[in-house]
Amino acid sequence: MPELIIDRKLCTRCNTCANICLMKIIRKAKDGELPHIPQSRQALCMRCGHCEAFCPEQALTLDFLKEAKLSYKNKDSKIEAERMALYLMKRRSIRHFKSKPVDKDVILQLLEAAHYAPTGGNSQTVQWR
Ligand code: SF4
Ligand code: SF4
Repeated sequence: MPELIIDRKLCTRCNTCANICLMKIIRKAKDGELPHIPQSRQALCMRCGHCEAFCPEQALTLDFLKEAKLSYKNKDSKIEAERMALYLMKRRSIRHFKSKPVDKDVILQLLEAAHYAPTGGNSQTVQWR
């Protein structure tokens, strides 16, 4: 069952997470209490990740895929407009490939990244075996 892991020192009790939740299952911060999902509502969580993505303080982590998310949470992921534009302008469909083998670690890293591609309800249930 999903739970909100909230850093008490970072959380300003702004309740953005509760307001953004489409399922309206997050109980708002009140009287010094942190926002939380009551146990009786946890099954209604669609694991969309909106509460986590919209927290302005990056105080909230959902407990699924926790290790992966914590590893990139505070890293600078800003991409300047010029660099982004270059990536988009240089994109081509590749139909001819080199015969040089690609490192297995690189393939695994890319498959792991592909796991975060958009899915219905952001459920990210795709797996490779
Ligand atoms: S959005 Fe973040 S800072 Fe605001 S109440 Fe929720 S966890 Fe706390
Ligand atoms: S993951 Fe989505 S449905 Fe679950 S508590 Fe967060 S915003 Fe609500």
